[in-house]
Amino acid sequence: MKKKLFLIIGAPGSGKTTDAEIIAQRNPDKIVHYSTGDLLRAEVASGSELGKEIKSYIDQGKLVPLNIVINTIKNAIEKADKPVVIIDGFPRSVEQMKALDEMLKENPNIELVEVIEVVVSEETAKERVLGRARGADDNVEVFNNRMKIYLEPLPEIEKFYESQNKLVKINGERSIEEIVADMEKEIKEKAGI
Ligand code: AMP
Repeated sequence: MKKKLFLIIGAPGSGKTTDAEIIAQRNPDKIVHYSTGDLLRAEVASGSELGKEIKSYIDQGKLVPLNIVINTIKNAIEKADKPVVIIDGFPRSVEQMKALDEMLKENPNIELVEVIEVVVSEETAKERVLGRARGADDNVEVFNNRMKIYLEPLPEIEKFYESQNKLVKINGERSIEEIVADMEKEIKEKAGI
């Protein structure tokens, strides 16, 4: 099956996972969604050795090593049984972006359609993350670390996808309904569904 891939990137607390989840739920026949963070947390929850290794990175707000993340993404795309696949929280580094590019060159059945960036201010991101306290990584020190790690490669990631005409920025400082409406319209139009 040919698969159309949409990536959603955004700061911690930008709402990227919630937005994508709602869109997939509203379009169950056509769209499947995976959150990179959720996939990694699921491995941690399984109690495996790999999960233990992953946990040590997540707890500090550090990026999980490249090979683990790429494997996770590959498996998710492979098991996706819908024509449109949304993955949020990826790529989060220049090396991940390059590895994905290689993967796409080897897999003509996967088309990267768009990279959607959910833009929020650092203040909004911080308020949301500290307000939700989802896990051990939702505290101010780890937040600051995650924010720094998010922002550092962002200009290069934006430039790369802008040059392919694939970058779309969405204002994440609005209600979930407004953000989801914009994002859903964008995805459906570009996917032709
Ligand atoms: P998130 O749920 O997107 O906030 O991600 C939570 C944590 O999972 C991050 O702080 C990282 O430790 C890890 N993680 C999520 N996505 C990635 C990624 N693309 N590359 C490396 N680590 C990731």
